[in-house]
Amino acid sequence: MTKYLFGNWKLFKTPRQTEDFLSAMLEKIKSGPKLSLELAIFPQNISLTAAAKISKGSPISIGAQNIGPQTEGAFTGETSVLACSELGLKYILLGHSERRHIFLESDEMISKKMPLVVDQKMIPVLCLGEKLEERKSEQTFKVLESQLSKALANQGQADFILAYEPVWAIGNGVVASPERVLEVHQWIKSWLKKNGFQQATPVLYGGSVKPDNIKKLSELPAVDGFLVGGASLEIESFCQLIQQIS
Ligand code: PEP
Repeated sequence: MTKYLFGNWKLFKTPRQTEDFLSAMLEKIKSGPKLSLELAIFPQNISLTAAAKISKGSPISIGAQNIGPQTEGAFTGETSVLACSELGLKYILLGHSERRHIFLESDEMISKKMPLVVDQKMIPVLCLGEKLEERKSEQTFKVLESQLSKALANQGQADFILAYEPVWAIGNGVVASPERVLEVHQWIKSWLKKNGFQQATPVLYGGSVKPDNIKKLSELPAVDGFLVGGASLEIESFCQLIQQIS
């Protein structure tokens, strides 16, 4: 099965830096062996136009890091799913832990956004994960169950991707152990089955994935790919990630 490698650039890279990165990456890809990975980059919104233009028709897809819960109207500062669709984006990230915990996005709000993405023929990438205190008090599966059932309440049978990102592993170099990742991914896959969702729904792992730990994680049977923050920002480390799992 094709592995996914998604780069979340958070609030980094201006439009010009985005263009420079993607044109250099595309040159490298062109001169290397044929890729068997699904690659996507999620730049900040203001860099999406540049990213979409330069990567059109290439092996790198582009996604947005978030959208607003309405398609249009008097919602100052929001991003419309219609604009994302017009740019030809393939994916929309929803429910990233920084959205949930810094910007206080609720599961209910995320569940409103999921069908907006599907209606525009794009694929939602729903992020889930427990906080450190929840892990310590053995609440992980309860938290995931609640996040999944609320966010997927309006989803129906449309395609989506899940990204399990334990909050305690994001951006700090503390990667979850392969045993833990396997256990949680297997739990997510059985939850999907039990609740009538497609068995083939990809489940990605995110949280301090680096060139030196990705290979072991990619060998786990229930890991379909990765959502990577820090290590996707430099061409060299992003290329190393690609090499390790190709
Ligand atoms: C992320 O932003 O989704 C992420 C996993 O970040 P990092 O790889 O830096 O932990």
